[in-house]
Amino acid sequence: MTAPADLFLTELAAVLGSGSVLRGDDATGYAVDGRGYSVGDDPVVVRPRDVAGVAETVRRCREAGVAIVAQGGNTGMSHGTMLPVDRPSILLSLARLDQILSVDPDRWTMTVQAGVTIQAVQEAAAAAGRRFAPDWGARGTATVGGAIATDAGGNNVVRYGNMRDNVLGVEAVLADGAVWDGRRALRKDSTGYDLKQLLIGSEGTLGVVTSAVLKLVPATAHQQSALLAIPGLAVLSELFELAQTSAAGSLSAFELLPDVAIDRVVEVFGHAKPLDSGTDYFVLLTLASSETVEPRLAALLEAAAKRDLLVDAVVAGTPEQEANLWGIRDHASPTACFVGFQHHGLKLDTAIPLDRVAEFVTGVQSRAAAIAPMALCYGFGHVGDGNIHMMVLPTDDDSVEPWLAVRDELTASIDELVFSMAGTLSAEHGIGLLLRDRIGPQKSDLEWELMHRIKAVFDPDGILNPGKMLPPRAPNA
Ligand SMILES: Cc1cc2nc3c(=O)[nH]c(=O)nc-3n(C[C@H](O)[C@H](O)[C@H](O)COP(=O)(O)OP(=O)(O)OC[C@H]3O[C@@H](n4cnc5c(N)ncnc54)[C@H](O)[C@@H]3O)c2cc1C
Repeated sequence: MTAPADLFLTELAAVLGSGSVLRGDDATGYAVDGRGYSVGDDPVVVRPRDVAGVAETVRRCREAGVAIVAQGGNTGMSHGTMLPVDRPSILLSLARLDQILSVDPDRWTMTVQAGVTIQAVQEAAAAAGRRFAPDWGARGTATVGGAIATDAGGNNVVRYGNMRDNVLGVEAVLADGAVWDGRRALRKDSTGYDLKQLLIGSEGTLGVVTSAVLKLVPATAHQQSALLAIPGLAVLSELFELAQTSAAGSLSAFELLPDVAIDRVVEVFGHAKPLDSGTDYFVLLTLASSETVEPRLAALLEAAAKRDLLVDAVVAGTPEQEANLWGIRDHASPTACFVGFQHHGLKLDTAIPLDRVAEFVTGVQSRAAAIAPMALCYGFGHVGDGNIHMMVLPTDDDSVEPWLAVRDELTASIDELVFSMAGTLSAEHGIGLLLRDRIGPQKSDLEWELMHRIKAVFDPDGILNPGKMLPPRAPNA
């Protein structure tokens, strides 16, 4: 990466205060995450203390032509925080904007700064007798700003929606340094274009989110999960329908787990193996409510068994068993359970129309078997939303080279399958740099062109996360 001029940085540091501009060893923690993903060599990290500092930084960067890449917890999966290599840039960390500004149970909202973690939001909501519903494995590190920027999803989308459905208002610093305060605590507001929704999912390309009003939902004092061994993927649709319709609205997670990932997680992380059923796939589902859910879960399992939708099941009877089941789910990604090989692999964040998930998984598996027989292929994740993370990766040293020789061919083949099934390559992780050059065929040229025009309105000088998200313009556009 290219650093901005020394004078620029010295003046910025003087305005923002001590510890606000980091380089070298001091910046390492922001440059590389626990997965080994790096934003680039020798980054300049700018860490303002407040929204005024963010605005001042953005204003100065615009004047000096310095690109800005916003960073929250750096847990993103799409290389959205990677710095451009061809122009001066800074990594703008929101880590010090970490205040919960208010919790308002009567409004069913809370207002938090962008650098607050998802877990801190969940805990503050719970302390006020409410619940912030979005949740996923990186909860302890991922921030509200990053979650808004990627329109993050997670385990509870099936009931509560993704970030788009859980954000009522946003404050953001725009590309000229102006602060737009759109933090309204309204459930309904039909006054013109919804600028907040434009910022949600814009991956730092339209503005820097500095704080937000989040929606709270009723606390669910009762929660119980079960792991169901299913006879095959063909039952997924029927099982999901049964769970949705028989659980009286209390279904809050419906996740697919393959035996290969469960076995691996048990081996690597020492979780207790919940079931030994000999089946290839399992569904982890959770019912949650303000009332007891045990009878509903028992009835659901009985009905599923009668219809041959499961071959065996285990119900979490204690908080420890509940934590064990969800610990397995949190670790099911190769990033956690196939460390050393995960960087070579193909990790997909696909979503497919709900009734075609099984067909899609089978389609990917047969393409992988034909093109990359040396690789392990499995799917897991939020199938209740049609969001299935397909993984294809080598799992021993000998397979790496032959796998790398066919990885691009298999990637193109799977992408084509996704588009042919009216699916998406990015259900919840955003486009970033990872998918930018693959995402084009998913939408029409007109749709991408409209997005380029929106980008030009918000960021005419192209300083906000340049080169991310938007595929290059169509020729002659
Ligand atoms: C173990 C694990 C499990 C995960 N599970 C899920 C899951 O189930 N569902 C899911 O959706 N995601 C999941 N993720 C991905 C990740 O946690 C989310 O994408 C999260 O929203 C990223 O937040 P962050 O603060 O880490 O953002 P970063 O990684 O720091 O940034 C992500 C993007 O947002 C931009 N950005 C960050 N902060 C701001 C801001 N304040 N203003 C404007 N732009 C900003 C960045 O420039 C970048 O483009 C998982 C990640 C891990 C490591």
